[in-house]
Amino acid sequence: MMQRIAVLTSGGDSPGMNAAIRAVVRKAIYHGLEVIGIQRGYSGFIEADMGPMNLGSVADIVHRGGTVLRTARSEEFKTPEGRSKAFANVQRFGIQGLVVIGGDGSFKGAEVFNREYNLPVIGVPGTIDNDITGTEFSIGFDTAINTVVEAINKIRDTATSHERTFILEVMGRESGYIALMAGLAGGAESILIPELRQSIEEVCDKLKRGYKRGKLHSIIIVAEGAASGLEVGKQIREMTGLETKVTILGHLQRGGTPTAFDRILASQMGAKAVELLMEGCRNHMVGMVAGKVVASPLEAAFHGKRPIDLEIYNLANILSI
Ligand code: ADP
Repeated sequence: MMQRIAVLTSGGDSPGMNAAIRAVVRKAIYHGLEVIGIQRGYSGFIEADMGPMNLGSVADIVHRGGTVLRTARSEEFKTPEGRSKAFANVQRFGIQGLVVIGGDGSFKGAEVFNREYNLPVIGVPGTIDNDITGTEFSIGFDTAINTVVEAINKIRDTATSHERTFILEVMGRESGYIALMAGLAGGAESILIPELRQSIEEVCDKLKRGYKRGKLHSIIIVAEGAASGLEVGKQIREMTGLETKVTILGHLQRGGTPTAFDRILASQMGAKAVELLMEGCRNHMVGMVAGKVVASPLEAAFHGKRPIDLEIYNLANILSI
């Protein structure tokens, strides 16, 4: 019978991680388990920066962005020596199961650790990029795209007044999900994503066609992994003579109070992770698939990044004609 589990957040933070921590802690306590909170991801795991959590430790955090457990990247955890220090803490603190809230890098670490030391681990996908195979939504993505859409709305107001072309660079080094979904929701003219190469000529042609038929402004969304927003702005200016203004949203996209969707998702996923550990499940991740929170083997997350949804991409193109 499992009596004590631990929880950590690792890798890049995302809004809603706190709601997931709260769900893990409260669901576990509800079932009579003890919970150890590990600070600063795998760094705190190695350095024994951890302690018991109670119902009050997660009070008043459901609406807060970031993670109260803090997060980190740990090079040391990638080494067998680092992981053996972490295992010493597993023994010292009597940890029988671990919930890792993070991205696919964090899942990789969890999987390696499980293989070496046989500690049951469950991954909860928390990343604004929504690039994890095995779930249709990761915690923080909805908040991030809402932040981008809000920015688009504001830019649209000033863009209409001045008849300018605006370029908005958003996060996504390897994944264009934020750019794509926010671009669709915000009615962007063009969306540049790393998964699909699009020429600046095409973007310019579309811009010119739009202005010809009386469009007052244009908004182009660029995922940082596709191109630099500043560079795109410069190229469009050179090719068309249009005045371009570039905004780089940056870390704004990681913060903010999580949306209701992200809080609900995080609550369901955190609770499911505890259920899975109690059922004796190990080495799995939770995911949202067709509206249900389900478990799939952690390795599911390692078969490359989640491919972009081409149907959505084509739809965004059709609607911005
Ligand atoms: P994310 O979880 O957001 O994808 P990272 O890729 O930075 O973020 O991974 C977070 C942490 O997970 C790393 O700093 C490292 O400690 C651990 N990790 C990643 N890959 C491995 C691996 N192959 N073996 C062991 N630990 C890993």
